Amino acid sequence: MGATVLIADDSMVIRAVLRHHLEEEGYQVVEAVNGPDAIEMMRHHRPDMVLLDIEMPGLNGHEVLRRVKADEELEGTPVVFLTGQTGSEQIVAGLRAGAQDYLKKPFEPAELIARVGAAVRTKRLQDALRERSAELDRMSRTDALTGAFNRRHLDEELGRFVRLAGRHADTVAVVMFDIDHFKRINDTYGHEAGDAVLREFTRRVLTVVRADDILGRWGDSVVGRWGGEEFLLVLPQTGIEGAYVVGERVRSAIAGATFAVGSHQVDITVSGGCAAGTKPPTELVRSADAALYQAKEAGRNRLVAATSPQPLP
Ligand SMILES: [Mg+2]
Repeated sequence: MGATVLIADDSMVIRAVLRHHLEEEGYQVVEAVNGPDAIEMMRHHRPDMVLLDIEMPGLNGHEVLRRVKADEELEGTPVVFLTGQTGSEQIVAGLRAGAQDYLKKPFEPAELIARVGAAVRTKRLQDALRERSAELDRMSRTDALTGAFNRRHLDEELGRFVRLAGRHADTVAVVMFDIDHFKRINDTYGHEAGDAVLREFTRRVLTVVRADDILGRWGDSVVGRWGGEEFLLVLPQTGIEGAYVVGERVRSAIAGATFAVGSHQVDITVSGGCAAGTKPPTELVRSADAALYQAKEAGRNRLVAATSPQPLP
């Protein structure tokens, strides 16, 4: 797809000449006739680069660039100044302010095309880097086997929710799950079967949690693999009762239908411990762990709520 170039110049003649050369090279062209218009068009068209005239009535090119650089959504768009001035002072000031390049009027078409092309390549590289970095960030928070979040992400989100809860006199709930007799599955059917069970377990938990999710102001509930066959559910702005209700839905979604393990149908159950409050994350998790231990002791396939949820401050 051809890149989009925004021409911002108050001269109709210059806009027409630039458009002609750029369209000949296959660029899409949009035009702005003054400074405010340039910012508006950037917001609307998201061009790959901007040719920005310095001398324009009202808002000049320097002021437009200053606003673009202060705008989180626009600041990544390369700006090439167009200047009729021969002195280097204006050019230096523009480059210092964050312009990618400049072009002196009158310009040679070949030079125009070369500078526009370089700016567009810069933009494309930046975009690719940003995407890659977002992808790496996502991967670093995901458990490779199950696709659920990993412990790192759970830790961060739980910490964030607890801080918010403290500030707003609200609570955070956690449910620690542990698949019952998981070792038997690995021992009986092999590790691949165990992995398949972990994936199916994750799928069912996510189905329950997504169906249940009330979009909180602080963000969504988080499900992740805590380690081995342990999973943690973090519920922002939720008390112990709410945690128990969601946890119980998870428990019954696991026990309610057999798991396909190779050619076998296997009954799988899960035990869970719930805790809620504004305690530090490690203490919340410890409470949930203690409750989980009680659930195991009491015969598994059940949920236990920590007996003394932290009272509101
Ligand atoms: Mg002008």
